[in-house]
Amino acid sequence: MMSDNAFIGLGSNLSTPAEQIKNALVELHQHTQICLQRCSHLYKSAPMGPQDQPDYINAVCHITTSLQPLELLDVLQSIENNHGRERLKDKWGPRTLDLDMLMFNDLRMRSERLILPHYGMQDREFVLVPMFEIAPDLIMHDGQTLAAWISKCSLNGLQRLPDAIDFESIAS
Ligand code: AMP
Repeated sequence: MMSDNAFIGLGSNLSTPAEQIKNALVELHQHTQICLQRCSHLYKSAPMGPQDQPDYINAVCHITTSLQPLELLDVLQSIENNHGRERLKDKWGPRTLDLDMLMFNDLRMRSERLILPHYGMQDREFVLVPMFEIAPDLIMHDGQTLAAWISKCSLNGLQRLPDAIDFESIAS
């Protein structure tokens, strides 16, 4: 039973970023224990940290899964690796594909490999705004609404790109 719900944040700023993200969505959905439920539009955001790198393209998707959280992290990391992501020394450096597990049900955990909910969400407009598009009624772990979190977060010129991701072709 794919009864657990998770939100995944996707980001890329190298090698045709929009394609990286669309392909990652296809790869997620192709996994036998993952079912893609919804995905946001693509968004364009300014890089965090060093500014001498291209803008990022971001999206958030909602999946259901029968995987355990650490198994899902393994899948996310293997998809990242398939996209040629090099784990550069620079924490905020450019990347072909970054997949973050934002939330897994209401689970709160802190282990060496996995922190849930994802630690950086609260001040990342490129996570919160796409998430709001697909889950506007979400209540965050501190009891506040996602909308309240967004109202306290700087939007940093985040742009929603006009073309919707062709969800039917991905999820078919
Ligand atoms: P980054 O380079 O920012 O993608 O960070 C990757 C590292 O964060 C990996 O070593 C993961 O084990 C760790 N990590 C901790 N919590 C999470 C999470 N919720 N989602 C993805 N990676 C996580």
